[in-house]
Amino acid sequence: MPSDPNCIFCKIIEGKIPSRKMYEDDELFGFHDIAPWAPVHFMLVPKRHIPSMAQLTPEDSALMGKIMTLAPRLAVEAGCNPYPKGGFRVMVNTGAEGGQEVHHLHVHVMGGPRPWLRG
Ligand code: 5GP
Ligand code: ZN
Repeated sequence: MPSDPNCIFCKIIEGKIPSRKMYEDDELFGFHDIAPWAPVHFMLVPKRHIPSMAQLTPEDSALMGKIMTLAPRLAVEAGCNPYPKGGFRVMVNTGAEGGQEVHHLHVHVMGGPRPWLRG
């Protein structure tokens, strides 16, 4: 499943649909969410078409670890204040009951000042 011609995120990765890209390497792509839930809201996705977390295998451990270790640096670069006063939230919706709408695995990273949140 390297690329799915019907997948909106595969099209974004291939540049067929425009996006606000904020990160790219040989196996990952990062871009801002079109309908942000927070002042900073971007997604990190594998370039390879993996439908969801449910299809991950042990061979994907390094790939997912890379996303997790990149997230803090990219969050600050994208405008989140640094930990611990700032910070960010990571979310991976999986399957219909998990709220997943786009079936290409993506890790949401959300942060930035949100005065309506407690604490
Ligand atoms: P899900 O609900 O699948 O976890 O999240 C999908 C996310 O993709 C949503 O937050 C939605 O706003 C975002 N999204 C859907 N279509 C596009 C698009 O064409 N471009 C960008 N940048 N984000 C999109
Ligand atoms: Zn895809």
